[in-house]
Amino acid sequence: MTDQNKIPQATAKRLPLYYRFLNNLHIQGKLRVSSKELSDAVKVDSATIRRDFSYFGALGKKGYGYNVEYLLGFFRKTLDQDETTRVALIGVGNLGTAFLHYNFTKNNNTKIEMAFDKDPNKIGGEIGGVPIYDIDELERKMDRISAAILTVPVSEAQGITDRLVTSGVKGVLNFTPARITVPEGVRVHHIDLAVELQSLVYFMKHYPLDIDDE
Ligand code: ATP
Repeated sequence: MTDQNKIPQATAKRLPLYYRFLNNLHIQGKLRVSSKELSDAVKVDSATIRRDFSYFGALGKKGYGYNVEYLLGFFRKTLDQDETTRVALIGVGNLGTAFLHYNFTKNNNTKIEMAFDKDPNKIGGEIGGVPIYDIDELERKMDRISAAILTVPVSEAQGITDRLVTSGVKGVLNFTPARITVPEGVRVHHIDLAVELQSLVYFMKHYPLDIDDE
């Protein structure tokens, strides 16, 4: 595994984005890409891209750009694309159901292996090929699951998180508005869709993009 400690966190967060785009280029048979092309595609300014890529040991040549194959090789190693991370989803409501239908493995290395709910009408079923188990069986069923997606009602979020952590989960993607508390060493990424949408509208209103700058 490449020494990831050298890559700043902000850069590391953009890695999957770069990886997905470069993978598409590779599939199309493209051998190289300029920072301008990348910048337009992933919506990150080219100065940031150049800085990010210097951490990857990729130095773009003027008039040539970056070698797609080299970068993909680096990303695969860094993101551990060969090893799939097993993920569980808790709460098969509207949002949870959509995620189960969404094929996460298309572009990367994560797979939702199992889902949990408390609704007897959902338990025992399967959505998108993912089995839905009784939440009461969480501790028994969770096997080598290191990450979890949380799509339960807000009131359930903390209690279920505690159980996930006890079961060995090291990362939680929290889609509930709850601010959950976890022990040190467990990572929580919080995605509140309502807040994101509000924030988008706020920025659209107050910071309109000046198309002349493009
Ligand atoms: P739906 O219309 O299917 O109820 P929703 O997203 O509007 O979807 P929510 O009330 O947010 O419903 O609940 C999301 C899902 O979480 C539901 O499927 C619900 O059965 C499930 N759920 C609620 N409490 C728990 C719990 N303690 N453990 C596991 N799953 C739970």
